[in-house]
Amino acid sequence: MSSSSILGSSVPVTPGRLLRQEVLDISAYHVPASTGMLKMDAMENPYVLPQALRDEIARLVADAAINRYPDAGAYDLKQKIRAVSGLPPGMDVLLGNGSDELIQLLALAAVKPGAVLLSVEPSFAMYRMISAFTGMRYVGVPLADNFDLDLPATLQAIRQHQPALVFLAYPNNPTGNLFDADAIEQIIEAAPGLVVVDEAYYAFASASFISQLARFPSLLVMRTFSKLGMAGLRLGFLAGSTAWLEQLEKLRLPYNVGVLTQLVAGKLLEHHEVLLQQAEQIKEDRTWLYDRLVGTVDVRAYPSEANFILFRVTHAGRVFEGLKQRGILIKNLHGAHPALDHCLRVTVGTPEQNEQFIVALQESIHQSD
Ligand SMILES: *Cc1c(COP(=O)(O)O)cnc(C)c1O
Repeated sequence: MSSSSILGSSVPVTPGRLLRQEVLDISAYHVPASTGMLKMDAMENPYVLPQALRDEIARLVADAAINRYPDAGAYDLKQKIRAVSGLPPGMDVLLGNGSDELIQLLALAAVKPGAVLLSVEPSFAMYRMISAFTGMRYVGVPLADNFDLDLPATLQAIRQHQPALVFLAYPNNPTGNLFDADAIEQIIEAAPGLVVVDEAYYAFASASFISQLARFPSLLVMRTFSKLGMAGLRLGFLAGSTAWLEQLEKLRLPYNVGVLTQLVAGKLLEHHEVLLQQAEQIKEDRTWLYDRLVGTVDVRAYPSEANFILFRVTHAGRVFEGLKQRGILIKNLHGAHPALDHCLRVTVGTPEQNEQFIVALQESIHQSD
């Protein structure tokens, strides 16, 4: 065993002695094994790209200068993102290796002793985890029974805790709904710090805060391309005024978006209509899947503006295992939060996958009774 005996100490170093308590206390983000399974757990786009576009990408990758560092400013890619995102004049973007990295970057920029990151619950688990490992104090305000914002409670928590950062997922994960937009505006007006509207599922939603950026100087909008079909590339962005972004930019590691991501994402954004068309198809598939879930006995499905649907059953654990035995992986949220008791979350698949899922679900429910 290694020890610092050269320095005269006989006590071997262990993680428990060396690392911060916050780090030791976190339970690791668990990604379940999925080999050979039909993956309907992670909000990925189930559709493949047209062959002609795949060929173009293959040529781009073949010629890519992977011996060189990427363009540190990702100039071309940022141009293309601005072109497709409908940013108001004067707004810019900051790129992240996935939007998870941007949540972390914001927390690192804002952390001071006692600084608070506030979000709502249940919502995206990374807000709490990133608070923990960056040393921010996390405050989670419970949502109302219908999963909309509890505005009085949220405003009260903002007054009490004076959060440096507020994160609101719009639509929310894992519940799938869009919060009331007026309530979000009141939160932005009341918050003493930044409010980040996390639009990871913007491509499937009927509303966005991008157009509000010019109205609210303390608003930032975060998006990812993961759910639109580029989960493997790792690319997200934060949109807002240059006054904020030029400060945050200092914390971005210079080469956080690799050569291949810049090239391939840039190419896909040149063909943005292909991705948008897939998103439209996913929205139709979502309607089909939602109607089937609503029509299944012992299932209560929640309306969704995202590419997944939350639903409640009588025995979530048994139904989840039943699906797994039938080769289908979804997400079991039972135990994640009291409001999610016996809840499961399924990502919208192709029509064939959705049918396969519904058959397996009905069998699993029947078996679990
Ligand atoms: C998936 C997701 C993200 C993170 O996506 P990345 O793949 O890291 O870009 C961020 N916020 C919400 C609400 C999500 O569901």
